Amino acid sequence: MNSEKINFLVETYKLPKFRIQQFYDAFFDQGIASFNLIKTLPKSLRTQLNTNEQVLTGAPYRLFSSKSKNAFKALLRLHDGALIETVLLNPKPGLWSCCISSQAGCGLGCTFCATGSMGLIRNLSAEEITDQVLYWQTSDILKSFRSKLNNIVYMGMGEPFCNKKAVFSSLNELMNPSTFNIGARHISVSTAGIIPVISEFADTFPQINLALSLHAADDTLRQKLMPINKPYPINKLRDAIDCYLNKTNRKVFIEYILIDNENDGIPMAEHLVTFVKSIKKNHLVHVNLILYNRTDGGYLESQKQIADQFKNYLVKNGVKTTIRKNLGRDINGACGQLALKNPIGNSSACHTDAYLKKLTRE
Ligand code: SAH
Ligand code: SF4
Repeated sequence: MNSEKINFLVETYKLPKFRIQQFYDAFFDQGIASFNLIKTLPKSLRTQLNTNEQVLTGAPYRLFSSKSKNAFKALLRLHDGALIETVLLNPKPGLWSCCISSQAGCGLGCTFCATGSMGLIRNLSAEEITDQVLYWQTSDILKSFRSKLNNIVYMGMGEPFCNKKAVFSSLNELMNPSTFNIGARHISVSTAGIIPVISEFADTFPQINLALSLHAADDTLRQKLMPINKPYPINKLRDAIDCYLNKTNRKVFIEYILIDNENDGIPMAEHLVTFVKSIKKNHLVHVNLILYNRTDGGYLESQKQIADQFKNYLVKNGVKTTIRKNLGRDINGACGQLALKNPIGNSSACHTDAYLKKLTRE
């Protein structure tokens, strides 16, 4: 459900204009996810809408809850059977974030990422993207805590900048004062580095947070971990960050997963320091070190002592760095663990080589 769909309902069912506000109130203020429960509508209209229309595009298929009750993962089944995952996180009391998917699967094939191993099933529509937020906002979990969502992160399945049109439209909807009304600074988009879209994003959404998944500051290693590094290598990524910072003057986040014996040695930390220092406004750069979450990819997480050593090296060299807390590991809801056997079959998925060719032709 979004503003466009509400307008569609009003036109299709020839409803008076004041119904628009009633829909906004019901879905976005009161968190009602069923036409039947909207008391301000006449009974006959409720029945009619309930029979013919859906409030949410994704039907809940399974729900997982972490033991500590600070992470929840929902599998949503879309109209064509594609499954997507969305995660609700409660990192500290009173603070709720949700992590949403922009695609079913992902075509970029990063070797450490469970979603990457699925290939791309398909892009999500703008409504399918924002409906993940609405799903949590109307869920009993948030209601039982009497809480609202504070932050939205595009860090679920898929590469947001490979689905630019729908993702941009979903961002506008999340900020729409009549519907989600979420402030730009409470929204973050993470990209593996689709360079042409970074600049467009800076022009269109200068207040929304940007995170760049780097994971290695050396081309040979980054290419091994992230095939997207071939068309969009590190020096071009640096230019894109320079251009982004010039346009926005906002903080940019560099995401760096620490993988045992791959990218966690001091020589790799040196590359990262050199990279950050080569960014003109590097005082605006913040490195988030992420502890690797195991997938089927065969990698292991860095040992704690090595992770601390890596962090200390960066800090000593003047790079602002934090090690990010991981929630939801026990429900495979942590970063990069979002993968599933898809009922519409992986045979229809588009895998990395073909996808990269298509992407760079566009
Ligand atoms: N495609 C986008 C957004 C989705 S991935 C991107 O790559 O940025 C969200 C974040 O999870 C990225 O920083 C990604 O690199 C990270 N991630 C992927 N697999 C991971 C894993 N196994 N452990 C920890 N983080 C992972
Ligand atoms: Fe896709 Fe991001 Fe996973 Fe890479 S890390 S495969 S870009 S979802």
